[in-house]
Amino acid sequence: MEKKLITVLIPCYNEEESFPMLCERLRNVADGLTEYNFEFLFIDDGSSDSTASLMKAEREKDKRVSYVTLSRNYGKETAMCAGFDYAKGDAVVIMDADLQHPPELIGQMAKLWSEGYDDVYAKRTSRKGESFIKKFFTRIYYRFMQRSTRYPVYPDVGDFRLLDRRCIEAIKKLRETQRNTKNLFAWIGYKKIAIEYEVAERQAGKSKWSFMSLVNLAIDGITSSTTAPLRLSMLFGIFFLIAAFIYMLVIIIKAIAWGIDTPGYSSLMVIVLFIGGVQLFSLGVISEYLGKIFNESKGRPVYFADEYNGCKISNKDGDGQ
Ligand code: UDP
Ligand code: MG
Repeated sequence: MEKKLITVLIPCYNEEESFPMLCERLRNVADGLTEYNFEFLFIDDGSSDSTASLMKAEREKDKRVSYVTLSRNYGKETAMCAGFDYAKGDAVVIMDADLQHPPELIGQMAKLWSEGYDDVYAKRTSRKGESFIKKFFTRIYYRFMQRSTRYPVYPDVGDFRLLDRRCIEAIKKLRETQRNTKNLFAWIGYKKIAIEYEVAERQAGKSKWSFMSLVNLAIDGITSSTTAPLRLSMLFGIFFLIAAFIYMLVIIIKAIAWGIDTPGYSSLMVIVLFIGGVQLFSLGVISEYLGKIFNESKGRPVYFADEYNGCKISNKDGDGQ
């Protein structure tokens, strides 16, 4: 029987420091798993350092290596999308370039895949080294996502996973430009199983995420996969409407029973400011979705690729392919 091909898909952005080590570890793993053929697909997400030329050099040494360079830096989500388009494997393993995801797990993933699982995702056992605040907000985020979507969204699960070809084909059909791939994996369904792993320290360089960018990511994650905040702002509205109505009755009854009393400036101020705040917040929620509609309605391709294995991409057939 033909050996099955596993594509290891790695988005890289300014990863020149980790890259040599990454290649070495990948090669070791691939050489150990003789029952599969391997493709190492690197996506250069518009790096400004020598990452792209390292990829080229690597391909010259080892034909299992393929690379796509994007026309600029689009972000990891989009880089992964490009990877799905170019991956040739019967299964695709997605991992980070910084070796936080140990490639040694690929064997275990492939084994479960051969047992019939479509999506073998790696679940980190601890979040040690992360600040209390980050852990706290992460918890709230996942709680909210769990409750507001019809599909399970797992905490402590990242993009490190093995996907069967049919999952890749499914994801390729989802051409939204504001991508939250983690939720897409959950949304497509199929037979999933978790394996556990310990997140390693970043090999070199530094993480491109700041706290604010994580907040933005959470807002994007929510607004791109659920309309629950819209529903929530309506429930808020209903709540305040009822509260206002009750308060109105109280005022009328008080006025009839005890006559009109004028003081009440502070309570009035508090209520006006509070309701104003709630209105602005709700407007913000709506705008968030409006912005999403605006961006999607342009119907732009998700990305443009510059080169694939040394060939310039002409852009004639859309989506840089
Ligand atoms: N990455 C990317 N484009 C970006 C930012 C990051 O392709 O604009 C890649 C990066 O090279 C790495 C992965 O995405 O392989 C995860 O990035 P990082 O380690 O910065 O994120 P973290 O591990 O902190 O979530
Ligand atoms: Mg990392």
